[in-house]
Amino acid sequence: MGIVTHHYTHILVGAGLHNGLTALALRQHQPDARVLLLERGPRPAGNHTWCFHGVDPDADVRALLGPLVEHTWPRQEVVFPDHRRVVETSYSGFTSASLADQLERAFADWPGSALMCGVTVAEIGPDHVVTEDGRRFTGDLVIDARGPGYQAPTSDAGYQKFYGLDVELEAPHGLDHPLLMDATIPQIEGFRFLYVLPLDDRRCIIEDTRFALTPTLDLQRMRSALLAEIARRGWRVARERREEHGVLPMTWSGGPEPVASPVRAGYAGGWLHPGTGYSLPVAVRFALAVARGGRDQTLERLDALRQDLTRRLPFYQRLNRLLFQCFAPEDMWNVFTRFYRKPEALIERFYALRATPTDRTRILLGRPPRGVNLGRALALLR
Ligand SMILES: Cc1cc2nc3c(=O)[nH]c(=O)nc-3n(C[C@H](O)[C@H](O)[C@H](O)COP(=O)(O)OP(=O)(O)OC[C@H]3O[C@@H](n4cnc5c(N)ncnc54)[C@H](O)[C@@H]3O)c2cc1C
Repeated sequence: MGIVTHHYTHILVGAGLHNGLTALALRQHQPDARVLLLERGPRPAGNHTWCFHGVDPDADVRALLGPLVEHTWPRQEVVFPDHRRVVETSYSGFTSASLADQLERAFADWPGSALMCGVTVAEIGPDHVVTEDGRRFTGDLVIDARGPGYQAPTSDAGYQKFYGLDVELEAPHGLDHPLLMDATIPQIEGFRFLYVLPLDDRRCIIEDTRFALTPTLDLQRMRSALLAEIARRGWRVARERREEHGVLPMTWSGGPEPVASPVRAGYAGGWLHPGTGYSLPVAVRFALAVARGGRDQTLERLDALRQDLTRRLPFYQRLNRLLFQCFAPEDMWNVFTRFYRKPEALIERFYALRATPTDRTRILLGRPPRGVNLGRALALLR
């Protein structure tokens, strides 16, 4: 117990999306850093498919994400009972396997750095961590990104829940770009839509997603409902390759804490897009804030990013509150069909967490979505 084995410049706890990207950014921008990445699972990165909209103008973002991306589609589509729209914004995705491969490659050839899997961290301090099996490691900066499972569900939130399958169909599905939202299916628990990512002519990831008030995920029921929708489309599953599910809070309060080592990062630290429950756009900015620039100013850069994020959050959190508190569950889809009539550039900035003041006005002003409880909405907007 308690033997100091090595000193690192960075100790990253949890090799998920945030710390995975942070490690890769450090490899690119600070090859002399000595990084320890600790993961309790047998391999880094878990079991996810991460997607993002558009192409970032920042060359360093493209350099970080480029090697990870497995699929890019030039456009995306949404379908509602009263409206269909093809959005000419690209959509890209990568799986945990791709992030794990890149991490293993980066650490294989990184003197003084180490990726350790199958190691559960039990104690985290400002300059050290202790593993469950009693090993102690010290570092200049500790980043704790143990993922959404680490955070208790908050009461100030709605939830995005999903159950998905990566399947091979018996015949071609006929899609050549992602169907981001197909809300023409029965609305259950709240806003419900099917999400379909075509990976090749027969293979696709297909998910039943719900924006709901409760975090309970009944896997058996979600699976049956998804299989029923697949059948309703006339698709027959030849092979199930993988299953994916999750519950992501869509908060209307909170945000990242002021930054100090150990930095509470990643999803559990509130570094996420509250309007989507997704964290990739924030994770990329976080990774580059750690890696780009002198090591002595890392905390200052991270705190500047936190302040920028904190300024942007209230708008998105207010939208969540409007969605979850001012609409009956069966009417929530009206919010999205209205949003998807906005200009493409606005939609792209919304997802990138870069909505401008004009965007915000355009999203909120005008004829309200059908079904809104106007009195409650006006009270929230005041
Ligand atoms: C199924 C699913 C799909 C998603 N799809 C998207 C998407 O398309 N785009 C998007 O932006 N967001 C998506 N999200 C949301 C969000 O981006 C992810 O939850 C993201 O993985 C959060 O990153 P993270 O690094 O905070 O946590 P994680 O990626 O969950 O990583 C945390 C890691 O810490 C490890 N860990 C936990 N405790 C310990 C410990 N004590 N010691 C050592 N290791 C530990 C875990 O094993 C895990 O590997 C998705 C979420 C889910 C669940």
